[in-house]
Amino acid sequence: MKYDVITLFPDIINNYCTQSITKRGIESGLISVETHNPRDYSLDKHKRVDDTPYGGGDGMVLMCQPVFDCFEAIKKEDDFEFIMLTPQGEKFNQNIALELSKKKQIILLCGHYEGFDERIRLGLTPREISIGDFVLTGGELPALILIDSISRNIPNYLGKDKCAHDDSFSEGLNGLLEYPHYTKPREYKGLRVPDVLLSGNHKEIDEYRKKESLKRTKTRRPDLLN
Ligand code: SAM
Repeated sequence: MKYDVITLFPDIINNYCTQSITKRGIESGLISVETHNPRDYSLDKHKRVDDTPYGGGDGMVLMCQPVFDCFEAIKKEDDFEFIMLTPQGEKFNQNIALELSKKKQIILLCGHYEGFDERIRLGLTPREISIGDFVLTGGELPALILIDSISRNIPNYLGKDKCAHDDSFSEGLNGLLEYPHYTKPREYKGLRVPDVLLSGNHKEIDEYRKKESLKRTKTRRPDLLN
């Protein structure tokens, strides 16, 4: 999977990618992450990428030319998906992450300031994705959230012992929340690990986990049961 991120703040993306599982995914060749800065494509002599909005109002708007040229310079695979990060897009979830994990290339466009000149949306027709009903300063954190959650669904990305298939919202749990986990010690500050998890009886452990997963989903996220 090849990620190309269009961003005015490439360090935010690149720094994150030097850590943890993302770093390992890059080193193993399962994913690659490349940044592209619209400022490098600005034809303005001061390399400006934004300007004041027509009609007045606060803030600055990202201009068409640097973003169009930056997008057009990216080498495209046959099967690429172009995504604009925007709070006005379809809300991101595990199903979309799974769907996108099957693509060869994802191009992510991060906004900043007041957002984009509308003609970027109209001219480049990206799929618009939001990570939730709140507004962030820029699209870099949403882009990283997509990279992280999509990549988890790529076979072998999490290592051979772990699979995203068994996490909350996933197929392995029928879309429900995951059951609770415990590790050593058996008792901590008077709180004990449930006996069934120490029993060694795998059938009973499976039943307990299914029951807990359902109970958790009913109390915390009844909407998922539909
Ligand atoms: N003026 C815009 C609006 O009200 O819809 C918000 C612009 S926001 C300050 C700047 C950039 O951050 C956006 O262009 C987008 O790329 C990113 N962003 C902010 N919140 C987001 C969210 N919930 N999901 C995805 N991207 C978001």
